[in-house]
Amino acid sequence: MKIIDFVRPGSIENARVTLHELGEQGMPIAGGTALHFLKNQKPVTVVDISGLGFKGIADEKNGYRIGATTPLADIQEYRAERWAFHEVTRRLATHQIRNVSTLGGNIACVFPWSDLPVSLLALDATITIHGDKTYEMPATKFFEKQPARFLRTQGDIVSDVFIPKLGAHTGFGYHKEVRTMSGFSQMTMATVMHLEGDTIQSVRVAAGGALPIPQRLAETEEALTGQTADANLFQSIARETTKDIPWRGKEGMSEEYSRHLASIVLNDVLTHALNHAKERT
Ligand SMILES: Cc1cc2nc3c(=O)[nH]c(=O)nc-3n(C[C@H](O)[C@H](O)[C@H](O)COP(=O)(O)OP(=O)(O)OC[C@H]3O[C@@H](n4cnc5c(N)ncnc54)[C@H](O)[C@@H]3O)c2cc1C
Repeated sequence: MKIIDFVRPGSIENARVTLHELGEQGMPIAGGTALHFLKNQKPVTVVDISGLGFKGIADEKNGYRIGATTPLADIQEYRAERWAFHEVTRRLATHQIRNVSTLGGNIACVFPWSDLPVSLLALDATITIHGDKTYEMPATKFFEKQPARFLRTQGDIVSDVFIPKLGAHTGFGYHKEVRTMSGFSQMTMATVMHLEGDTIQSVRVAAGGALPIPQRLAETEEALTGQTADANLFQSIARETTKDIPWRGKEGMSEEYSRHLASIVLNDVLTHALNHAKERT
């Protein structure tokens, strides 16, 4: 990334106008930790959005609203009822990086190793975006393609993320497989499961790490919904519904290994979510 100028606007409106005027030559910046991964050598002016007030976590009636420039370390420290997102942020890189990296930066430009999009897909999050007008987008739509593309072309800024509270009998499961403690993900999966008695009433499952962009596992969700939750079911669905997904090999792993890992990790997160759901009234 070749930075030729640095602008610090005083308001979101000024930031938007500046980014709009700069077009492809402008780029918002929050923590700045992704700069060395961005290989584009075209000169850019960076627009610092870290001081525009999108910071902090608000406990609203049905969910948690997290400002886009909230550092990941703050999310890691946060605790509340029917909330599980700290479990995800604490597994990302090192604490030095989490002190600086922001939620918005992690989701606006998605790398294959990006951890937060996977859980936001499972948690059914909604992303608020400041453009010509303010609009909201469900995570499933936001992560359909690389968000940075549409955000940059339009000069739009992510302002916050809303995560619904986990309801009664609803469990969260998360696993990030790494070779070293602060390493990039080899396989990340997250799930939110809602039970009625022993029946899986609804479930959302998402995966990343060994995929170009995080995605929901629609076939897995369909196969689980309406079934009685038990270990044998999880094992067979984990094996059957992951085998045709084009997992990528990475960091010395073959595609075949990634496929095998996917079924193990899926089984794990489903089991976690089931146990969590059973504890929750
Ligand atoms: C050594 C290292 C290891 C890492 N390991 C991991 C890992 O294992 N898993 C993981 O998930 N992450 C990891 N990260 C962090 C990740 O790769 C990104 O660097 C980080 O999430 C970016 O956050 P930031 O606030 O620094 O964003 P920035 O670097 O400031 O910006 C990143 C991109 O997002 C855009 N952007 C930022 N904020 C907004 C906004 N509010 N609205 C619109 N666009 C915006 C910018 O224009 C830029 O394109 C690692 C980082 C480092 C340096």
